[in-house]
Amino acid sequence: MLNRKGPMATLAIVLVFAVLHLAFPAANHSPRATGTTMLGGVAFLLMTCSIILSTRARFFEDWFGGLDRVYQVHKVSGVIAALFVLVHFFGVPKELPPGADPAINALVPSAPLGMLALIALVLSLALALNRKISYSRWRPLHKLMALVYVLAAGHFLTAPAALFDRFSISGFYLTAFAILGVIALLYSLFGMNRRTAHVYEISSVKPLERATEISLSALGKPIDFKPGQFAFVEIQGKGWSEPHPFTISSGKDEEALRFTIKVLGDWTRKVREELKSGAKVSVRGPYGRFDTDAAGTKQIWLAGGIGITPFLSTLRSMEPGDKRQIYLVYASRDKNEAIFLEELTERAAELGNITLVPLFSDEGNFARVDIMKSKLPDPLDTYEYFMCGPKPMVNGLMKDLKKEGVKRDRIHTEAFEFR
Ligand SMILES: Cc1cc2nc3c(=O)[nH]c(=O)nc-3n(C[C@H](O)[C@H](O)[C@H](O)COP(=O)(O)OP(=O)(O)OC[C@H]3O[C@@H](n4cnc5c(N)ncnc54)[C@H](O)[C@@H]3O)c2cc1C
Repeated sequence: MLNRKGPMATLAIVLVFAVLHLAFPAANHSPRATGTTMLGGVAFLLMTCSIILSTRARFFEDWFGGLDRVYQVHKVSGVIAALFVLVHFFGVPKELPPGADPAINALVPSAPLGMLALIALVLSLALALNRKISYSRWRPLHKLMALVYVLAAGHFLTAPAALFDRFSISGFYLTAFAILGVIALLYSLFGMNRRTAHVYEISSVKPLERATEISLSALGKPIDFKPGQFAFVEIQGKGWSEPHPFTISSGKDEEALRFTIKVLGDWTRKVREELKSGAKVSVRGPYGRFDTDAAGTKQIWLAGGIGITPFLSTLRSMEPGDKRQIYLVYASRDKNEAIFLEELTERAAELGNITLVPLFSDEGNFARVDIMKSKLPDPLDTYEYFMCGPKPMVNGLMKDLKKEGVKRDRIHTEAFEFR
């Protein structure tokens, strides 16, 4: 669930600027000039926040409620920034304030930089929001945003004082954030991936029904994860392209680190068909706040298809004597696709506190709130829910649970996509 602390902090950063800019306007500015430069500044700050969020700093996960939420706010901030940029561009007075020397405006690159930033922003945003572009093409294109940011910073830093007073309080504020933003940008482009990598080697590649399980052994310091967390997996070598996020499916105390990967597109197919033991892998993380340990004693876990992975890791890590009462609803197309069903059945029997409910859609059985309501011993709002699976399933269940009076903070979801 989205934690409010992060979005509130983002809002506070923007509001402080707006208040400073409106409270201490430049003497020769019309109210329209003050208002539209404020919107330009707000847009720049939102872009800065968006860039800072992409550094994946650990505390952001606590502030926002997980990396998937961090990326949601990253995206929303970018889109709102673009809207404000448009209002700024069309709204800002094109004539200079009274008394300003027209020559000064012609001598500085502020206007062309602003225009280039606007064109690059519109292009990058159209690419960023286009879901038809494959992720591997989308990722390098998305880096165009870095250029937009640098152009935007250049735009206001080179603006003549008659148009933007960078020595005013709000000007200093914006400049300080521009410095932070550029540092964050350089870090996320060049430093982040190297700094956070754990080096592993593939020890086995096991084909499963429409999925592949890869096991890895650590060559250095192993990753220290909690069940339910995920990591970015980057296979070294030609043709493996960018890192991909996967939930860790092994138990906490296992020596090998395991990922269970559904065959979906080019990269996941290549894993199944071409990946060999001995290949070197960078694993970055762990990330995520899908933590069943931090919740109450009555829990319902709802897994759809490959969404079983976080629960798999949790069950593989659990010790007998766990005080929780857990129902695990595992929905899949058919028995074959319910990978690890046998192991899950055995684990449930060993642990004693897990009730496993497999559902196969080819037999007409789906995860449904009305059925849960009729079968569970206690009212629905007394349980805490953990859901991971296809978006329509998760959204549908969430809507129905809310209708039944289950509060949003008792429903925890893990989205298997960031875009
Ligand atoms: C937090 C998280 C945990 C996940 N855990 C698992 C798991 O345990 N098992 C599993 O099978 N899948 C998991 N996924 C999904 C997995 O990352 C994608 O299915 C996989 O990357 C698809 O790659 P592809 O190129 O084969 O498929 P494509 O068809 O190219 O991509 C399918 C979708 O996956 C996403 N995607 C693709 N590449 C990337 C990337 N490099 N980074 C981020 N997203 C990408 C995009 O939204 C894309 O639309 C998880 C995703 C996230 C975000």
